[in-house]
Amino acid sequence: MQTPGFTPLSSDLIAALTAIVGTEQITTGGPGLETLSKDFYWYSPVLTDRIGDRVAAAAVKITDLAQLRQVVSLAAAHHIPITPRGAATGNYGQSVPLYGGLVIDLSGMDKIIDLSDGVVTAEPGARLSTIENQARPLGWELRCYPSTWVKSTIAGFVGGGSGGIGSITHGGLREPGTIKRFKILTVEAEPKIITLEEAETMRVFHAYGTNGIIIEVQLRLAPARPWQQLVVAGLEWDPLLDFAAEIAGDADVGKRLVSVLENPIGSFFAPIKRFYPTGHHLIFLEVDEANADAVVARAEAAGLTVPKRIPYHFPRKPPMLSDYTWNHTTLWALKTDPKWTYVQSGFGDNYREQFKLLHAKFPGELLFHLEFTRGNAKMGVHNVIACGGIPLVHFKSEARLREIIEYCTEIGVFTANPHTCFIEEGGRDLGYDVQVSLKAEADPHSLLNPGKMKAAPLPAGADPAALPRFLFT
Ligand code: FAD
Repeated sequence: MQTPGFTPLSSDLIAALTAIVGTEQITTGGPGLETLSKDFYWYSPVLTDRIGDRVAAAAVKITDLAQLRQVVSLAAAHHIPITPRGAATGNYGQSVPLYGGLVIDLSGMDKIIDLSDGVVTAEPGARLSTIENQARPLGWELRCYPSTWVKSTIAGFVGGGSGGIGSITHGGLREPGTIKRFKILTVEAEPKIITLEEAETMRVFHAYGTNGIIIEVQLRLAPARPWQQLVVAGLEWDPLLDFAAEIAGDADVGKRLVSVLENPIGSFFAPIKRFYPTGHHLIFLEVDEANADAVVARAEAAGLTVPKRIPYHFPRKPPMLSDYTWNHTTLWALKTDPKWTYVQSGFGDNYREQFKLLHAKFPGELLFHLEFTRGNAKMGVHNVIACGGIPLVHFKSEARLREIIEYCTEIGVFTANPHTCFIEEGGRDLGYDVQVSLKAEADPHSLLNPGKMKAAPLPAGADPAALPRFLFT
């Protein structure tokens, strides 16, 4: 379906784009174009219903800045919407084009420009796994990375992600200091480069590619540590949760992951469920090898068992417990039963009580998947251990999903709503006005990922009636 308001690109424009990128790197129809118009929006039944049929008019894969400049210049001159795309593993339809136009796949612009002194500088399409694997022999590692690190790109992570493995020690991407510098390309007939340093990078961070095309990212790294993976199991929820909170809050234990999985979530993980007994709640940990024996002894003293230990190895290879945490947990649940979906929650200090309230109110509909982190930037909480997570929701109806989110708010549980592709509706209100003002400067014709930033105007000719409405629109 071509979204109302935009006609397909003319044959002259297609010819001009082909001349820039080559015939192999342009897709103008068929299943290939549909694939390039999608991400992991289908995690949400709401997004599936509203945006599952949106398709670009064409997609181009670019490999260097010179090509990108030419493509952007052409698109700007002809007022063609542009949706930047990395590996398209985003969950909120961030790289689904709402208004057709051109998808620009930047995954081929993937050089690591420099990796030294604890800082990586990379082109937008550099994969996080490549960066981690090149950093580690030099004594460095990513401060945090998403569970999709094997595929996902550095610009996609800062453009649409938030944090992940490592956030228990270093917080999310929004923590001051982690992102050092961005370079972005403006969308004009003569594109310019704008450099944003340190706090200024927040003008582009998590803006879904609406206010500049990221052409270079600089991230600070952390000293590399040898991570041992542990599975901790318990039949009782409260002692297991207490132990997870104790390890999460113990500054003397080096750690990269503290994920808590309510029974029966562990049964969804087909490739690894032989590692632990059935019917147990689980903690998946990554701790420094130097601390691992002591953590195991503490778990056993707390009445828990440690049925699986995976020693540090490099390069990392399966099984990796992180492949079952963060939003991979939802993926494994969906493989088991397509009725599972999710919310993204930040709990209060009274999280034990909040869990009880939620279980009582929605029996059988919620399963707790928790991720402990240092701070929760979306909630404005910094430098303290926070209990958040991605609870699974057994989907009944949109009305019920809305009711769950509303009840969460009522009892003080923060929700970053994942069932919308609008930046404003995703629980994202920190410093948002500076993102809007950058859009005016970097994208004067409002061509970048139109519709995702509600505060920005739509491009000329775009039909406002084609904008989707979500749970709280
Ligand atoms: P894409 O999905 O391609 O893009 C994301 C956004 O960035 C889009 O809006 C896109 O337009 C924009 N963008 C891409 N490139 C550029 C550019 N050069 N300039 C400007 N904008 C650009 N996220 C987390 O934060 N933590 C997790 O642990 C996590 N786990 C996940 C697990 C699963 C199974 C799935 C499906 C998703 C998960 N995600 C997670 C979401 C997503 O995988 C990550 O955020 C990932 O880093 C996105 O990278 P990408 O290259 O796939 O980006």
